Amino acid sequence: MSDARPRRQVQRTLPARKRIALIAHDGKKPELLAWIERWKDTLAQHQLLGTGTTASRVTSELGLEVEGLMSGPLGGDQQIGARIAEQRLDLLIFFWDPFAPQPHDPDVKALLRLAALWNIPVATNVASADFMLSSPHLNKAIEIDIIDAGAWVNHRTGP
Ligand code: PGA
Repeated sequence: MSDARPRRQVQRTLPARKRIALIAHDGKKPELLAWIERWKDTLAQHQLLGTGTTASRVTSELGLEVEGLMSGPLGGDQQIGARIAEQRLDLLIFFWDPFAPQPHDPDVKALLRLAALWNIPVATNVASADFMLSSPHLNKAIEIDIIDAGAWVNHRTGP
């Protein structure tokens, strides 16, 4: 079956100071907090945001400034997905819990889909998050390829 959707790519610049989202399901919050503590000085050089409970705990327990969105089950994952679609997020650190079903599993899937679609680097556990923050790209502006949203709409509205 042929797929006529346009695949044209354009470039987007991830800035040197990254906008980093932090999310952990309840069963993974201790791991995320311990990981953040290890990387605190590095993370402090970037702009942090997170779902409500995660953000609040990072601020109160570790003293980092984190913009708190809605709690995940109340729509926070969707808000982070919207930031991705608007190209206002650069990195996603999402310790989702592989052992616990969540009431907002559809939102979790939607967020991971948007991250895949928009070519956003995602870390889902300690090892991948270590790799991400060790990257030579972390403190530099870097170009990534993303889908050409204008071409996509033109294709759907054109003759
Ligand atoms: P929380 O949300 O930070 O408000 O706990 C995380 C999530 O469950 O997605």
